[in-house]
Amino acid sequence: MFNLSRYFSTVSFILIVLAAGVLGPLYRQLSLQQITELAESRNVAMAQVFENSLYLPLDALMTASIGRDGVFLRQSPELANLQQSVVGLMRNTAVIKVKIYNRLGTTVFSTDASQIGENRLGNPAFRLAMNGTVLSELAHRNTMDSFEGRLAETDVLSSYIPIVGKDKSIEGVFELYQDVTPFLTQLRQSLWWVTAGVFLVFAALYLMQFLVVRRAQRILEEQEGRIKAARDTLEIQVEARTEQLKLANRQLEGEISERRQAESKLNYLAYHDPLTGLANRRCFIERLQESLRDAAHHDQQLAVLFIDLDQFKQVNDSLGHGVGDELLVSVASRLSEHVRLIDMLSRLGGDEFICLMEGLRSAEEVEVLAREIIGAFDYPFRLGDNELFLSASIGISLFPADGASVDDLMRNADSAMYRAKAIGRGQYHFYTPEMTRDAKERIRMENLLRRALDHGELVVHLQPQVDTLTGQLVGAEALVRWHSPELGLVMPSSFIPLAEDSGIIIALGNWVLWETCRQVMQWRNSGFDLPMVSVNLSVKQLERPEFFDTLAGILDETGMDAASLKLELTESVVMAVGDAFTLLQRLRDLGISLALDDFGTGYSSLSYLKMLPVQQLKIDRSFVMGIGRNPGDEAIIRTVMELAKSLGFEVVAEGVETTEQAAFLADLGCQQLQGFLHGKAVAPAEFRARWSVQP
Ligand code: C2E
Ligand code: CA
Ligand code: CA
Repeated sequence: MFNLSRYFSTVSFILIVLAAGVLGPLYRQLSLQQITELAESRNVAMAQVFENSLYLPLDALMTASIGRDGVFLRQSPELANLQQSVVGLMRNTAVIKVKIYNRLGTTVFSTDASQIGENRLGNPAFRLAMNGTVLSELAHRNTMDSFEGRLAETDVLSSYIPIVGKDKSIEGVFELYQDVTPFLTQLRQSLWWVTAGVFLVFAALYLMQFLVVRRAQRILEEQEGRIKAARDTLEIQVEARTEQLKLANRQLEGEISERRQAESKLNYLAYHDPLTGLANRRCFIERLQESLRDAAHHDQQLAVLFIDLDQFKQVNDSLGHGVGDELLVSVASRLSEHVRLIDMLSRLGGDEFICLMEGLRSAEEVEVLAREIIGAFDYPFRLGDNELFLSASIGISLFPADGASVDDLMRNADSAMYRAKAIGRGQYHFYTPEMTRDAKERIRMENLLRRALDHGELVVHLQPQVDTLTGQLVGAEALVRWHSPELGLVMPSSFIPLAEDSGIIIALGNWVLWETCRQVMQWRNSGFDLPMVSVNLSVKQLERPEFFDTLAGILDETGMDAASLKLELTESVVMAVGDAFTLLQRLRDLGISLALDDFGTGYSSLSYLKMLPVQQLKIDRSFVMGIGRNPGDEAIIRTVMELAKSLGFEVVAEGVETTEQAAFLADLGCQQLQGFLHGKAVAPAEFRARWSVQP
């Protein structure tokens, strides 16, 4: 801080010294001037006295001839008289010496006789006096000759005073020496006192000022301290406020980032499958849209691969949704390993995955990827205690060849996937335009099929089932046929899957059941007794809550006895029903027999099988075909036979076409045979004609 008291004390000290330095000499000067003036006026007065008193001798002296070097003058008798008169006048005055010059500057008289005759014409003071001006001069003499003798340390004021004659003309000059030592001594003393006084006053002033300034300085310092404290407080407050603001800011930022996190989470959820973490359908569609624009712009190709797991539904239904979910996660991660980073893999839902491959140069590149994906299922998935073998079917569509829009490409890849599945498991298939024709055909067929039921275009054919040992007719399987005016005769393999997919199977299946029962009862009433009739049952029928009422209604209406009715359910279908055991038990309770169709192709575990209220196993045609050709198939048949024997199941082999197959099955103890060897499925009339007279 600016030091006020130091500044003021320094400045005022300098000013005081300056003031003292100016005032002292000024006072001295003024005093000297005063003394000089006073002494001069006394000299002038004395000169007047001398002039008056010494008028005569003086006049004579002025006019006297001076002679060489004043020697003559010095010897003149007037001079001695004058000397006496002057000394007499000088006595008891301060005048200590007198000199008289004539007009020519010659010293005509001096109290110091040795100086008589000297010339002072060149002296400026003398000249001024000759012009009528009095001039004085103050001087300090170490020694001074006076008429009373020699004086030491004397202050002397000498004045040149003109001698004015009767006609006012200047006749000569007096030089009077006056002793001013007492005045000057007094002056020195008063100067000292004045100096001391001034010094004291200034010192007092200085002191007062110093005190005032110091007090002011203290007040200022205090004030400054207060200001500093206030500033510090303010700073602290500002700092605290800043911290507060920062904190608030951070909180705000936190809230914002929380909101952002929530948003990005929502965003993530909107675009990702929560189970597998893969992109979801929406994400895939948006990406495909973008990629299509880019590909069109840069004239590039891209591929859409539709991937569907072949046996997922069975696994999910038999092992539970927990295992199903786990399996999907494993499949997703295994697929991810085989898909290039630049390609996009997403899960459409269920067991459907879809992959986008960009920057495609040739169809072979897609084939490589498709084979890799299929190869990814070569080794089993391990889920807890279960080791599962799965396969996937892939349908591929290409841009721009197979479509230019997201919808077209996805639909066509889907069609290609169905085709791949139709060929067999673990295959891929490229889309072909004929698939669209097929799809259109399917739609047309579906419409026709709906109509077929009402228009009586469906008929039931029957295929015999004979006793292996005796060859006697023990039953027949009812197999539906469609006589379409537009399509001609349509076999069930062409329309049953369609009916299953569209839900038509429920009405269709119920109709077959009703028609079969009606036919059998009609035969029985007219003398042809078929011991047992088997009807294929779709799981979709079984799952309908009203199915048991329908079944009871059919039995009631047709008069069919339940003991002669057997329902065939495919092994995999039974596994797929959530509560199969209860449902089958209800059928058993009605007295209906149950057969597991296509046995050996499904996943039934032995323990599960043991619990099912089933009487018959139908060995699938694919194994029978392998008899005499494929030892593996034969081994499976042997195993099934042993299993059936130990669990007490009756066994029917289907698709028996040769005596060799029949012999092999008879050997193993298979009770019944069904196949072309004994007869194809034929119309009821033909069936009755053939079997009413038995060999
Ligand atoms: P499925 O139940 O396994 O029926 C046996 C199929 O094998 C029948 O084909 C039959 O004609 C055929 N077949 C029988 N023996 C031989 C043989 O020695 N050699 C050859 N190559 N084939 C033989 P179809 O009639 O075409 O029936 C196909 C499938 O359609 C049936 O397979 C069955 O699953 C389904 N199906 C037929 N009718 C109905 C029905 O009324 N309801 C339901 N839900 N499904 C039906
Ligand atoms: Ca069957
Ligand atoms: Ca079968």
